[in-house]
Parts: sequence; C-alpha cells; structure tokens
Amino acid sequence: MQTNFSIAQLADPNVSAVNDILRKCVHCGFCTATCPTYVLKGDELDSPRGRIYLMKQAFEDGTGATAKLAKHLDRCLSCLSCMTTCPASVDYMHLVDMGRTHVADTYDRPWHDKGLRWVLAKVLPYPSVFRLALIGAWMGKPFRKLMPSRLRAMIDLAPSSIAGPSDVDRPQVVKTDAEPRMRVAMLSGCAQQVLRPSINEATVRLLKRLGCEVIIADGAGCCGALVHHMGLEHEGHEAAKKNITAWENAETKYGKIDAVVINASGCGTTVKDYGWMLRNDDAWAERAANVSNKTKDITEVLTTLGLSGLTDTLRPKLAYHSACSMQHGQKLKTEPVELLKAAGFDVSQPAESHLCCGSAGTYNIMQPEWASELRDRKVKNIRDLGVNVVATGNIGCLTQIANGMGGDDAPVVLHTVELLDWVCGGPKPKELDRY
Ligand code: SF4
Ligand code: SF4
Repeated sequence: MQTNFSIAQLADPNVSAVNDILRKCVHCGFCTATCPTYVLKGDELDSPRGRIYLMKQAFEDGTGATAKLAKHLDRCLSCLSCMTTCPASVDYMHLVDMGRTHVADTYDRPWHDKGLRWVLAKVLPYPSVFRLALIGAWMGKPFRKLMPSRLRAMIDLAPSSIAGPSDVDRPQVVKTDAEPRMRVAMLSGCAQQVLRPSINEATVRLLKRLGCEVIIADGAGCCGALVHHMGLEHEGHEAAKKNITAWENAETKYGKIDAVVINASGCGTTVKDYGWMLRNDDAWAERAANVSNKTKDITEVLTTLGLSGLTDTLRPKLAYHSACSMQHGQKLKTEPVELLKAAGFDVSQPAESHLCCGSAGTYNIMQPEWASELRDRKVKNIRDLGVNVVATGNIGCLTQIANGMGGDDAPVVLHTVELLDWVCGGPKPKELDRY
C-alpha cells in the first residue's frame, strides 16, 4: 500500500512503525473472510482492510481521530484472526494498538462512553475493587431489565457466587520436595483470580507436582491488557513496568527464573509483547524484551515438562475452544490439544474454531449486541458436538461461553489446566460432579 507521510511525520517512531506496517498491505482482502465482525455484518469498514484504510487516513492527516474511526476501531475485537490469514504478514495487532492510542489521545468520546471506560480501567485490574463491584452487580441483578445494554452486560457477567481471595494468589514461593526441575514465576493476574480462583490453584498444584518451584512475585499484578486495549498507553506501560520490576526483584531474591508462566492467553499475548510496547524507552526496552522472551503459556511449560501421574478415571467427552489470543495472538494451536490428548481426553473442536466467541477483554461489555451474536454462534457450534465439557485457556472465553450455554444439561466450561490437574492426581472440579 502506498503511503504519503512527510519526512517530519516519519521522525516520530510510532508514525514510522505505522508506515512500515501499512506498506506491507497489498489490499488483497483475504483477511475479510476470517474477520468475525465482517462475517457478521458484511460492512467493509468493519473488516481489517477497511480499518487499515481508516487508520492510514487518520495517521496521514495527522489531525484528531474522527467519530467514524473510533466507531470502527471500537468494533474490532483485536482477535487477530486477520493476522493468521494475511499472506503479507501485516502487523495488524500493533497497528490497531497505535490506532486505539490515537483515538484515546485525540477523540472526545461521549460522556457515558468515557465514564464506562474510566470505571472499567479503575475496577477490573484490581482484585479487591473488582470483588466489591461483583457483589454490587450481583445485588443489581433483579433490576437488570431497567438498565441500559452495557450495564446489563456487566451484570450478566457477574458469577452467581463470589469466592474470597485464594491463598495461592498472595506473594510466596511454593517449593518442591526435591531439587526443582524449573523455577517459574506465575502471573496471578487480576480478574481471573476473582472470577475463578481454582485456575491458579490448579496451575500451582500441577507445576509443583511436576517438579517446579513456583514464585508468586510481590508487586506483580494485572498484565495491562485491559487498559492497553482501550488505547491507554501510559497506563499499559506502567502495568508492564510494575510486573517487570516484580519479576526482576524475585530473580534477585530467589535465583534465576526459567519462565514467566501465564494461564490466561489474553494476558500471555500482552506480556509476550512487553518488549515491543516499551521498545522506544531506553531505560526499559531491554528489560521488557528479557521478560517477553521468557514468557510462556502454561501449556508450553507443561509440554516441556511432560505430564505424569495420570489416573485412570473416566474422562468426559470434551471439546477444546482455542481462544483467539492463544491461536492467533500466541500461535499456540497444537500444544493445548496435544496435552489434552496425552492426558487421555478424546478432543474435538467446533466448526468455525478460528472465529472469536465475542469475549475479547471488555468487548462483551462495550459492544454487547455483537458480542452476544458471536457467543451464540460459538455456543451452537460447540453444542453440535454433543460434548460434556469444554476446555479453554482464557478466563474471558470461559466466562463468555459459560454464560451462553444455559440449561442444566449444558456442557461445563473449564480451564484446560483444571482438567489436566484433575487427571494427573488433583481434585475433581466440582462442576464435574454430575458426570
Ligand atoms: S490480507 Fe493482509 S495484505 Fe491482504 S488486505 Fe488484509 S491485511 Fe492487507
Ligand atoms: S482483529 Fe479480529 S475483529 Fe479486528 S479486524 Fe482483525 S479479524 Fe477483524
């Protein structure tokens, strides 16, 4: 794609990066076929190619973002399906990140949109605040019909019971009985530890049983993805710096960390991107790249370690839902499936497995109608398989798909690591009691 930036514009490293990305696009349109929003609506402006044109125009003009740009970028899920399809390796992920920052910096959103974004940025990354908000949401459930759609979407995402903080999420070192095979730092995250603490608990149990020393570093917290995807660049960078510092300090105190382990693929995609996010910051670029290079999804670490201690308990019929951040963001397509198979599960995958379930960070709150359409499509494809259990590696997908299932006979949605922990000698997830 031909671009028309001035020399002065290209002196800005971000504009220069935008230019490099745009020039790779040959406007072939292959990406439109696998873009969930284009598949749903058929509007070119809600396709990757359409959004790329809008961003090109905005960056070349160098003026503030328009309502049109904001609308079509807001409707993008950042699912990165387009990147998997693109034959020219266009780096849409970083382009849309910079596009969102441009919108956040220069576009004056309507007050209610600004207000909701502010609330989400101040609540979701902080487990104790989020826990209180969920209690409020739970109390608001009887009045949900009176609420606007975005508030209703928030209320609907609140679980029916809210567990207290888990012991496993406080800063600590979980030792092994023998010399550890690996020393890993586990990101305990933010929303996940409130919505489903059993995921971190299963992760630590399984890693320990397989011979890993697990560090929950003091000061590590939200990966920054939530604010980063809202275009809040400064806040995203601050979250990254906090985590980098926490893991560096842990390494100084406890010894070399072999891997930063992440069990939410959305967070993994972001932490693996810290090096790029902080590339223009001399004080942080190298430190961020070091962390990104040693960041692994839990299924990558388990593949390296190999499963052991498998029990002969009867496995339920299982479907694997690959989160977009897992298959498109981190390009991890085989590891989770192969692990589940090695653990004795008969694994099937739904039709249209490349399409997003509509969760996408805060998308199901900000764009509830489109998110629900995608969720219902995903749920139908899963239910067509006639399975008892759905495994996935991202808390956002887990919550979204479980909310769409409905009915007592519906498949149970669990994290991959909860299932692996169970069949390797851990406790049976309580949701499986009916099988
Ligand atoms: S597939 Fe790639 S090169 Fe083709 S239009 Fe989409 S982004 Fe551009
Ligand atoms: S990231 Fe997903 S929703 Fe956004 S343009 Fe690409 S395929 Fe479409």
